[in-house]
Amino acid sequence: MKKLLITLLLLSGAGFFGSHPAICAERDTLVQVATIDALLGGLYDGVATVGSLKSRGDLGIGTFDALDGEMVVLDGRIYRVGADGRAITVPDGETTPFAAVTFFHPDREVPISAGTDLQSLIALADAAEPSPNLFYAFRLEGHFKAVRTRSVPRQRKPYRPLVEVVKDQSVFDFQDVEGVLVGFYCPPFIKGINVPGYHLHFLTADRKAGGHVLAFTVDRAVLKIDTLNRFILQLPESEGFAKVDLQRDRKSELERVEK
Ligand code: ZN
Repeated sequence: MKKLLITLLLLSGAGFFGSHPAICAERDTLVQVATIDALLGGLYDGVATVGSLKSRGDLGIGTFDALDGEMVVLDGRIYRVGADGRAITVPDGETTPFAAVTFFHPDREVPISAGTDLQSLIALADAAEPSPNLFYAFRLEGHFKAVRTRSVPRQRKPYRPLVEVVKDQSVFDFQDVEGVLVGFYCPPFIKGINVPGYHLHFLTADRKAGGHVLAFTVDRAVLKIDTLNRFILQLPESEGFAKVDLQRDRKSELERVEK
């Protein structure tokens, strides 16, 4: 396993420093591997094992080595939604080039009514959150009239930038489906490091399909929100990360990749 440089960005809270294992189980902490701009730049080599993610959170999202599908972390299990839309659990030894997890302890619940779509959910979540300047983890579970997701195929070297790869993405339409959306809201100042705003992945109730969420319409669901006020960023010491161009503004690339 590659050596990892652990960088702690302390947003609030005291007595929380160093690489002591106790931090792994810390509540209200978003733990992230690598940066979104590195991923946008085509850095798809895995830099942390999914087993190590499990010790740092039980809910989250990400991708896998060689950009091999969409990651959903739910109830402590790690699922890969492949380019065929099917979800499978992955062995702990597999690696990720980009992921974010937290131990999910919801602070509040918001019932979500029929007809709520992604845009109106964002408005409801915005209204339920005390500030746009913190991080939030989400679990939206229930019955959906429709969910549209995508996944990406495993890549071969030399890797193309993500904005090129998503031109080959597969899109899946689920109708009348039970399932759960998980993910995060990140504040605007996270630009370059993670995705500012909302980023959700989906898994069906039978845990057999899902993907990166593009759109949905709720039939009946409950939104659970966990406010996160700490952020741990784990940076790779790999040669690829050392060389990737993180100076340039990838905002427009990110918008094309996410939507
Ligand atoms: Zn995603």
